[in-house]
Amino acid sequence: MPIRLYNSLTRSLQDLEPRTPGVVTMYHCGPTVYSSPHIGNFRSFLFADVLRRFVEDQGYRVQQVMNVTDVGHLTNDDIESGEDKMEAASRKTGLTAWDIARKYEAEFHDCQHKLFVRLPHHMPRATEYIAQMGAIIDDLLQKGVAYQTNGNVYFEVARFPGYGKLSGKVLEELEAGARVAVNEEKKDPRDFALWKVDPKHQMQWDAPFRSGVRGFPGWHIECSAMSMQLLGPQIDVHTGGEDNMFPHHECEIAQTEAHTGKPFVTIWMHARHLLVDGTKMSKSLGNFFTVADILGKGYSGLELRYALVRVQYRQALNFTLKGLDEARAAIGRVQQCRQRLVRVRDGLERAGADDLAAACTAANDAFTAAMQDDLNVSGALAAVFDFVALANKAPVSVTGAKAALAVFARAEDVLACFGPEPKADATSDAPAELLALLEQRKAAKKNKDFAAADRLRDQIAAAGWRIVDAPTGARLERT
Ligand SMILES: [Zn+2]
Repeated sequence: MPIRLYNSLTRSLQDLEPRTPGVVTMYHCGPTVYSSPHIGNFRSFLFADVLRRFVEDQGYRVQQVMNVTDVGHLTNDDIESGEDKMEAASRKTGLTAWDIARKYEAEFHDCQHKLFVRLPHHMPRATEYIAQMGAIIDDLLQKGVAYQTNGNVYFEVARFPGYGKLSGKVLEELEAGARVAVNEEKKDPRDFALWKVDPKHQMQWDAPFRSGVRGFPGWHIECSAMSMQLLGPQIDVHTGGEDNMFPHHECEIAQTEAHTGKPFVTIWMHARHLLVDGTKMSKSLGNFFTVADILGKGYSGLELRYALVRVQYRQALNFTLKGLDEARAAIGRVQQCRQRLVRVRDGLERAGADDLAAACTAANDAFTAAMQDDLNVSGALAAVFDFVALANKAPVSVTGAKAALAVFARAEDVLACFGPEPKADATSDAPAELLALLEQRKAAKKNKDFAAADRLRDQIAAAGWRIVDAPTGARLERT
């Protein structure tokens, strides 16, 4: 069975059929690095990661690019007004726009690492592709689909008949929206900037195209230049958040296709906005969380990842702190099951006769079918938990334990939200401070201070672990 994905361009599910058999090219609109990444950003980035992982699981080779926008993204991009986000952050903090960009890019990479993202093959910075943007701008000017006024270069939307095909926005709607920001320089209010001139802007380049003026690029041209340079003129899959669809992706299509004369992207995919406590995340509502905020509350990157990927990318996902607790419990159930299987495999627990052969095949098939169905992660997780229930009940043989562990390892390879295979003795996985509490409890019990022992047990339980008193000594397991 092929992988079926929802294409925003055709508004239908379609089979993934890469242009080059066996190789899938993917481009993801990456972060604009002017502030700490928030969990809404990461819903979209983790969706891209799960997509890549599953496509690889299905035997394809993936070429994946995620850009870093470090110049040109305006605070009010839908009507092309406002300030460059880097410059605005610079004004507020006193750091230079360049320092802002590097600081938050580093923070973004740190979050990718903490959330177990398989790193894209390329993570280009827009500021390092100015020459490639210039070559496209030059060509669009030559072709007469772009024009220059006072040094600024605009794409002339009326010269590209396909404009609006992705977002479905009709001409009148676009004109009404564009009227909000009247710009006398534009021939048509819908036209968008490819190059801007502003002597006050901190990030400036000599124009990389003929008869141009020193300035900086518009946001949309950046993604066209980087994707074409790194993946070629036509790519298989392009993703972003739903807010990227218009104007950003619409503009990417216009300028890229006007430049190459070929369809740019086969499948456009858009992740839905994350809701927090049932509403859109906003600083004024107090429901705005950066990745660091959540980790600072004592949740792990794995728990946050689980909470953000557990629902299919096109479905509404309501994020709550309770959801993180549920994620912790769900991960614990899987890891506990895996640990028992490890103990059976390693001869530390008595083996039964069940080789789980049919159950393993069924679990793998159900997992695959759900993921092939437009990355239905909740369906895939249901397959995992059905399998947990079954494996927990079965008197598993050593062969069965090995096969079952392979089912979990494969699910982990695709979703990366359970963690590595647990050790036979979970105590070795437990955080050092909990191991210290366990030692204190052993001492308390030895001294017959049962009140203290109980208190220590409760403290350990509050951290999500329980004490198992085995003949070989007490050990910790996740609850
Ligand atoms: Zn983009």
